Amino acid sequence: MSAGRPRVAVVGAAAAGLAAAEGLRRLGWDGEISLVGDEPHPPYDRPPLSKQVLSGAWEPERVALRDPAQIAGLGLDLRLGTRARSYDPVRRMLVLGDDARTELRCAGVIAATGVTPRTLPGAEGVEGVHVLRTLDDALALRRRLAAPGRRLAVVGGGVLGAEAAAVARGLGHDVALVCAGGTVMERVLGAEAGRLLAGLHRDHGVALHTGRAVTGIRAVAGRAVGVVLADGTTVEADDVLLAIGSTPAVDWLRGPGAEAAGLDLSDGLGCDEFCAAAPGLYGAGDVARWYHPVLGRHLRLEHRMNAAEQGLAAARNLLAELDPGRFGERRAFTPVPYFWSDQYDVRIQGYGLLAGADRIEVPVREGDPLRLAALYGTGDRVTGALSIGLAPRQARSLRAVAAAPTPWPEATERLADALAPAAAG
Ligand SMILES: Cc1cc2nc3c(=O)[nH]c(=O)nc-3n(C[C@H](O)[C@H](O)[C@H](O)COP(=O)(O)OP(=O)(O)OC[C@H]3O[C@@H](n4cnc5c(N)ncnc54)[C@H](O)[C@@H]3O)c2cc1C
Repeated sequence: MSAGRPRVAVVGAAAAGLAAAEGLRRLGWDGEISLVGDEPHPPYDRPPLSKQVLSGAWEPERVALRDPAQIAGLGLDLRLGTRARSYDPVRRMLVLGDDARTELRCAGVIAATGVTPRTLPGAEGVEGVHVLRTLDDALALRRRLAAPGRRLAVVGGGVLGAEAAAVARGLGHDVALVCAGGTVMERVLGAEAGRLLAGLHRDHGVALHTGRAVTGIRAVAGRAVGVVLADGTTVEADDVLLAIGSTPAVDWLRGPGAEAAGLDLSDGLGCDEFCAAAPGLYGAGDVARWYHPVLGRHLRLEHRMNAAEQGLAAARNLLAELDPGRFGERRAFTPVPYFWSDQYDVRIQGYGLLAGADRIEVPVREGDPLRLAALYGTGDRVTGALSIGLAPRQARSLRAVAAAPTPWPEATERLADALAPAAAG
C-alpha cells in the first residue's frame, strides 16, 4: 500500500458497511478503503439470527455475507475487532482502538455503526438474560434453547421479540411474550394487524402478556428466574430475552469536532437527502437518520434492505463530493422502505411508511390461513402497504402501491389490482 493514497474509512463492518465498501470499489475508487468493525467476525447477516440460526437450522458460517475470496478481492484495509473511538469531521481524523493509538487521516468517512440493544436497569451481568443483536448473542441463546423444556420470557413485542418467541415455541419451549403495547408489533402495524398476529402467537401456544410493562429482572444468586411486571407479579423463566429496542451507535462521533461540524446526533446520525451529515461524512444503515425528499420527512430505518441500499448510496454520494468531475452529481436517496419478518410459517412484509399512520384500511383479513392486506396513510394520502401471508407476487406488487404518497382512492384501486386472482402465484 503506497503512502499518501487518499483513504475512505467505512466504520461498521456489517450490511451497510460492506455495501459501502463494495460500492466504493465498484464505482471506481482506487484509493485506500479502511473497513473498521468492532466485532471479530467478517461481515455477516443479521436477519437469520432470530430465525434459522436461533432455531439451529443454520450453522453460523451460513450467515457470512461474502466468502473470504470475495472480501480479499476488494483490496480493503480490513480492521476487524477494532473499535472506532472517535472521528473529528473538521480535521477528518479517525481514531481507532481502545488505546486510541491509531490515527487515520481520511478523505471521507461513511458511518455504518448500526444500533445497540437496550437493556433493563439491573440486567447487566445477570446470567440467563439475553439480547439478540450479534452472532454471538444468537449462539448464546441457542445454546440455552438446545436443552429441552426451557421457559423463555421474551420482553418486547416488536419484530425481534415476536420472531424469537416463534422460534422458541417451534423448539417446544414454554414461551411468555410480554408486550408493553396492546398487541404484537402494534407500534409499527397498528391495532388490527397486531391483534391478528397476537392470535397467531396464542394459537401456537405463546403465553401473551399484553399492555404490561416489565420493571426488572428477578434473579437468585446472580441467575435470572423471571421478569417483574409493573403490578409486582413475576413471569417465571429460565431465560429472559430483552427485545426492547435499540440505541444508535454514535458515541464515537461525539468528539470535539462534532459541534463545529454541526452534527445532529439526537437520534442516530442526522443526514441530508444525500446521506451527508457534514462535508466528507456520510451515514448509512440503522444508524443514519436522513431526509427523504419524496416522503418529506426524516427517517431512520432498521431494515436489512435499507442498510444495503443506503450503503451504496452513501458511497456514491461521498465519491461525487470528493471528485464531482469523475463521479458525477450527488443523488438524493429516495428508497421505498421495505421490511419483512417471518413468524412460524407466515411472512409479513411492509412497504413504505406504516408507523404513525392515522388511517389504516384492511380490505383483506382472513383467519385461517392467516392472510391480510392493509393500507396505511396520513391525511388524504396512502404512505404504506402491509402484506401478511399473501402470495409472493401479490406481496411484491404492494411495493408499487406504496412507492410514493398516493391519494386513497387511487391506492385502493391499485391494491385491488395487485390482489386480483391473476396476480396471485
Ligand atoms: C436478530 C435480527 C433480526 C433481524 N431481522 C430482520 C428482518 O427479518 N427483516 C429486516 O428487514 N430487517 C431485519 N433486521 C434488521 C437488519 O438486520 C438491520 O437493519 C441491518 O443489519 C442493519 O445493518 P447495519 O450495517 O446498518 O448495522 P449493523 O448490522 O448493526 O452493523 C453495525 C456494525 O458496526 C459495529 N460497530 C458499532 N460501533 C462501532 C464502532 N465504534 N467501531 C467499529 N464498529 C462499530 C457493530 O458492532 C456492527 O458490527 C434484523 C436485525 C436483527 C438484529
